[in-house]
Amino acid sequence: MALKASDIQKKLPDGGKKNCKECGFPTCFAFAMKLASGAVSVQKCPYLPAEVKAELEEGLAPPIRLVTIGTGENAFSMGEEEVIYRHEKTFYRPSGIAILISDKEDDGTISAKIDKLKKFQFDRVGQKLRANLFALKFGGNADKYLNLVKRVAAEGYPIVLVCEDLELLFKARDLIADKNPLLYPITKENLDAALPKLKAKPAPIGVKASTIEEIVPITQRLKEEGIQDIALDPSPKSLMEMVRDYTIIRRAALKKTFRPLGYPILSFPCMLTDNKMEEALLASAGVIKYAGIVVLSDFEKESLYPLLVLRQNIFTDPRVPLAVEQKIYEIGAVSPESPVLLTTNFALTYFAVASEIENSKVPAYLCVKDTEGLCVLAAWSTGKFSGDTAGPFLKKIGIGDKVKNKRVIIPGFAARIKGELEEELPGWEVIVGPREASDLPAYLPQMIEKWKSQSK
Ligand code: SF4
Repeated sequence: MALKASDIQKKLPDGGKKNCKECGFPTCFAFAMKLASGAVSVQKCPYLPAEVKAELEEGLAPPIRLVTIGTGENAFSMGEEEVIYRHEKTFYRPSGIAILISDKEDDGTISAKIDKLKKFQFDRVGQKLRANLFALKFGGNADKYLNLVKRVAAEGYPIVLVCEDLELLFKARDLIADKNPLLYPITKENLDAALPKLKAKPAPIGVKASTIEEIVPITQRLKEEGIQDIALDPSPKSLMEMVRDYTIIRRAALKKTFRPLGYPILSFPCMLTDNKMEEALLASAGVIKYAGIVVLSDFEKESLYPLLVLRQNIFTDPRVPLAVEQKIYEIGAVSPESPVLLTTNFALTYFAVASEIENSKVPAYLCVKDTEGLCVLAAWSTGKFSGDTAGPFLKKIGIGDKVKNKRVIIPGFAARIKGELEEELPGWEVIVGPREASDLPAYLPQMIEKWKSQSK
């Protein structure tokens, strides 16, 4: 548990009663409150002895350390999570998805894998979903491995270097040190040899051990030596061990503030199975159960997309409905003859309706009303999508100035607002559309034909 303000106050000068205001706060307790919330640094109080500052900094550090790999706009960060269960608050840092490339693979395969990471991108509810990192595994040919490292580093993505040969691992790191790659594996066997190089030129590292218990002395030693950008791999051998080990690590870090395990997790489903379907399932478990990075041997669109959607769902803040802006969205080459549709601003609703309008090939105005991110049924049942609010909304956004025929199609699930809306919009025809967005591609062309024949 993080330090509370009352605990911090006791460690401040005169037991937190000096109240000299030199930190810029009226009392020591006010300063302690700000420290507890992370809003100020202990350095602001000039009267704290160095050892108390160090103690407070240790106590105030996030229970899971933030570790960053790579640099610039493609840098990837993991850690600093605060809860065991997503519904308690939220998960902040989506698991990184890495594709593994080995120097054993031929040039064509390597190029294809590089392309996959760059090209497989998906738009979903307004977010771009994609994999994040390359993991480069030493397969036996040192020269080829170093060339692979140089080649992939030029792509600009964060890199995990996977190399059991410690000397080669640091050689590869030195080639691309400016890209801040993560070095893996650091083990109890190679720790003594790795430490001088790590201290000379710090880098994020992946600690590998055969059990959680074996991790503890390694991370303790690393911390004593000033190395803390660490990710943990307890080397689970099965799905059951993976879920068990990752859960133990997360609980120890968050519930017990057990610092030796207060680091993000590295997960290698690619090393647990040769079966692609099993690998995808293990990767899903990793995303759900706290992995900071999940390394896959390969992926195709059909295996990557579900994993990215799962990740998006797990790392969406459950306290904040995904919403889009309230406004008129013009879909396709609209004209004054185009139909007008009305819906709510729940992002999933908006993107479903907008994409089905596109599929219908009928250009249309989609009027999206702010319902605080609620879907049609929820908004209607809570009074946020009623005729007497939708009518003024349509008038205010001026949709009447854009179209010749005053017709508005409302969602089938909100059929009950038809009467109210007609009262609010004299001269408009209010049409109850389909309940499901998926029916729009058939429905809209039919309506257009119907209106054309009516006007003849
Ligand atoms: S500077 Fe230090 S002693 Fe003075 S009020 Fe702030 S916390 Fe208290």
